Amino acid sequence: MPSKSIYQYILNGVKDGVYFVDKSRQITFWNKAAEIITGFSSSEVLGHHCYDNILNHVDSSGTELCKAGCPLHQSLTDGEIRDTLVYLHHKDGHRVPVAVHIMPIYEHDEIIGAVETFTDESSQTAFLKDLDELKIIAYQDQLTGLPNRRYLDNSLENQLATFRELGIPFGVAMFDIDKFKNFNDNYGHDIGDEVLKMVAKVFRAMTRSGDIIGRWGGEEFLGIFANVTESQLDMILNRIRVLTEKSSINHNDERLQVTISIGGAIINDEDTASNLIKKADENLYISKENGRNQVTVK
Ligand code: GH3
Ligand code: MG
Ligand code: MG
Repeated sequence: MPSKSIYQYILNGVKDGVYFVDKSRQITFWNKAAEIITGFSSSEVLGHHCYDNILNHVDSSGTELCKAGCPLHQSLTDGEIRDTLVYLHHKDGHRVPVAVHIMPIYEHDEIIGAVETFTDESSQTAFLKDLDELKIIAYQDQLTGLPNRRYLDNSLENQLATFRELGIPFGVAMFDIDKFKNFNDNYGHDIGDEVLKMVAKVFRAMTRSGDIIGRWGGEEFLGIFANVTESQLDMILNRIRVLTEKSSINHNDERLQVTISIGGAIINDEDTASNLIKKADENLYISKENGRNQVTVK
C-alpha cells in the first residue's frame, strides 16, 4: 500500500481545493489548490476550525452558513454526501463562488471526519471553460472528431513560420479514400460515414505527438508531419496506408474495408502553404493514376 505521503502528493496535484476536517471540524489537511482558491496557506489554516472566521461560507442570499446550517456540520451529523454552491471568503476579502462536495469519512461504521472538495466557479473559470468548448467547436470536425480544416490551416502557417525562422523542415500529405463514391452507392451514405470515422481512428492512432492529421473536407484528409525527411515521410505514410487497408467496420456480419491513396511533399525554401499542398495533391493524383492504395512522395 502506498505511503500516506503519496496520497498527499496526489491531492496536492489536483485542481480542486481539498480539505479534511475531524469530527470537531478542525482542519487537518489543506491542499495546494485550496491555497490558490482561498488565498490562505495551509499553515494559516491547519489546526483551526472551519468556523474560526477563516472561510466563513455564505449562501447566495448572504446567510452565514457557519452559524446557521453549515453543510459540513450536517454531513458529519447525518452521514449524507452533500453538493452545494457556496461563496467562500478569500483572504483578500472578496467572495469566491465554489461548488462544494462534502463526503463523511467513516472508520468502523463511525463518522470520524469529512472531506470537502471545492471547485472555483468564478466567472473567469466559467469563461475559460466556455472558451475551451468554443475552441473545440471552432477547430474540431464533428463527424470524425479530428482537427478541421481551419485548424489545419493554422497549423500549416505555424509550421511554415518555424521552418522559416529555425530551418526545421516538415512534410504534408493529402489522403483520399479510393472509390468512395462506389462505396456510398453500394452501402449508403450512413455506412460511408462510419467508414470515415473508422479511418479517422486509424489516423489518430498513427499520429506521433507533434504531428497532425485532420479532415480537409469530404473524404480527404491532410497530414502535417514535423521534422521529417522524404524517406521518413514515405515510410510513415505507407504504414498509415497499410493499417487503413487492414482495418474494417462490421456491417450485417460483413467486414467492410476501404483503401486510401496518399500524396506527400516536403517543404522547400520557396514553398508557400498553398503550393506545398498543391504538390501533395499532384502526388496524390499520381497514386490514383498508378492504381490507388499507394503512396507517392517527392
Ligand atoms: P477516387 O478513388 O478517385 O478518389 O474515387 P472517389 O469515388 O472516392 O472520388 P470522388 O472525389 O469522385 O468522390 C468522393 C466521394 O466521397 C463522393 C461523396 O459521395 C463521398 N463523400 C464525401 N464526403 C462524404 C461524407 O461526409 N460522408 C460520406 N458518406 N461520403 C462522403
Ligand atoms: Mg476525393
Ligand atoms: Mg476518393
